[in-house]
Amino acid sequence: MTEQTDVVVIGAGLAGLVTARELGNRGHSVVVLEARDRLGGRLWTEHRLGRTLELGGNWLHWTQPHVWAEVTRYGLEVSRGPRSEETYWLAGNEVRRGNLDDFMTLIDPGMTRLLEDTMKWLPRPDAPLTVENLAEADQFNLQEMLDKLDLTEDEKNANEAAWVGHFNAPLDQCAYVNALRWTAGASGHWHLMHEASAIFRLKDGNDTLVKAIAADTDAEIHLNAPVTAIRHTGEGATVSYGEGRQIQARKVVITVPQNILHKLDVQPALSEAKLAASREKTASQGVKAWIRVRGPIKPFFAYSAQDKPLSVIRTEFLGEDDAVLVGFGADANRIDVTDKDQVQEAIRVWRDDLEVLEVTGHKWMDDEYAGETWQIQRPGQLTKYHAAQQASEGALHFASSDIANIWAGFFDGAIESGLRAGRNIHAELKAQS
Ligand SMILES: Cc1cc2nc3c(=O)[nH]c(=O)nc-3n(C[C@H](O)[C@H](O)[C@H](O)COP(=O)(O)OP(=O)(O)OC[C@H]3O[C@@H](n4cnc5c(N)ncnc54)[C@H](O)[C@@H]3O)c2cc1C
Repeated sequence: MTEQTDVVVIGAGLAGLVTARELGNRGHSVVVLEARDRLGGRLWTEHRLGRTLELGGNWLHWTQPHVWAEVTRYGLEVSRGPRSEETYWLAGNEVRRGNLDDFMTLIDPGMTRLLEDTMKWLPRPDAPLTVENLAEADQFNLQEMLDKLDLTEDEKNANEAAWVGHFNAPLDQCAYVNALRWTAGASGHWHLMHEASAIFRLKDGNDTLVKAIAADTDAEIHLNAPVTAIRHTGEGATVSYGEGRQIQARKVVITVPQNILHKLDVQPALSEAKLAASREKTASQGVKAWIRVRGPIKPFFAYSAQDKPLSVIRTEFLGEDDAVLVGFGADANRIDVTDKDQVQEAIRVWRDDLEVLEVTGHKWMDDEYAGETWQIQRPGQLTKYHAAQQASEGALHFASSDIANIWAGFFDGAIESGLRAGRNIHAELKAQS
C-alpha cells in the first residue's frame, strides 16, 4: 500500500531537518527520506586521528544569523583551534615566514581594493538581486578581478592562496560576486568575513546541532532511503524510494545539492533554469584534508599558491606529541587526501621538517549524494539562476544552502532555506484546508 503524509522532505542535511522541524511543529505530518546511513549530509563529524574532526562543514559565526539562532536555541558551546604563532607563505618558490598579522598586512591592499565596491553591488545581502545591473559584475571571474589590481607577485600569490582557502576551486572558475556576497554578509568588512568563515566551531562537534534539531522534531526519518523518482501534479506528488517503496504527499521539499539535482528523475521535469544550473555545476571542486603530524610543533598557518595541491594549511588541534592540521586545495584531481605520501609531499612546499603520521578526509566530489563541497557560483549563475532555483514548482519546494540568500554555501544558508521552505509550505497547506 502507498504510504501517505502531508510533506515528504528529501535529504536530512541541515536544510531538510530544519524544514521537517518547522512543519512538524506546526502540526503537519512529515516524512524525511535520507539516502545515507546517517544524518547531517555535508555536515559530518567523526572521531578520527584521535580528535573530533569535521569532514564536511567546519566553522560558524555570530554574524551568521540563522545558524547562531540555533546555537542559542539549543545552548551549544563554541570553541576554536589554537592561535597561530607562525605563518608561512610563498614568494615565487621562496618560503617566507612571519606572523599572521604580517600575512594579513600583505593581503590587505588586494583585499581592500578587490572588495571596495561590495556594498554598492550588494547593499542587501539578504536580497542579493536588489541591484538591477548586478549582471555587469556577475560576468567576471575572481581571477580576472585579481589580475586587474596590479599586485606585486608576493601580494598576488598570497591573495590567491587565501581565496582558494575560501572558495575551494580554481579562481578563474569562480564568480567575482561570490567574494562580494561573502563580504556583504560581513557588512563589507573583509577581516570579519575572514573570521566568520574560518575560526569558530561547535565544541563537542558540529553534529551536536544536527542531533539537537533531529531530537526536536516528531517527523519520521528514514535513513538508507534514497529517492529514485518523483511524479507530481499541482495537487501533490508520489515519491519512490528505497527498494520499490512509494509515498504520497501534498508537498515535497527537495534539498539535494545543486550538482546532483539534475540526476533526480522528476516528472513533469524541473524548470530548465534549475536543470541548467545543476548541469553547469558549482565552481567548487576542491579538497579538505586532515593531517596528523609528529609534535611538539608551534601552531601555524601556511599559504602557498593556487596551483599547489594544498594551498592552505593550519593547525586545528595541538597535543603534546602531535598536532592535527587541516588543509584545503582547489582541485580534487590534484591530490588524494587519504594518501599519506601525497599529503606529505604537498606539505613540503612550505616545510620539510614535519612528519605526517596519518591522514584522513572525504572525497566529496566523488560522493554520489553530494558531488560538490560548499557552493561557490560560476560567473553569471547568481543573476541567471538564483531566483529560479528558489522558486517552488507546483507541489515541489526547494531548500538547500546552495540557494540561500545571505550565507549561501554555509550552514547558515541551509538553515535559512529550511526556514523559508517551512514557512511557505505551511502557508500553502493552511490556505488549502
Ligand atoms: C569539506 C566541506 C567544508 C565545508 N566548510 C564549511 C564551513 O566551514 N562552514 C559552513 O558554514 N559550511 C561549510 N560547508 C558547507 C556546509 O557543510 C553545507 O553548505 C551545508 O551543510 C549544506 O546543507 P544542506 O542541507 O543544504 O545540504 P546537504 O548537507 O548536502 O544535505 C542534502 C542531503 O540530501 C541527501 N540526498 C541526496 N540525494 C538524495 C536522494 N536521492 N534521496 C534522499 N536523500 C538524498 C544527502 O545525502 C544529504 O544528506 C562545507 C562543506 C564541505 C563539504
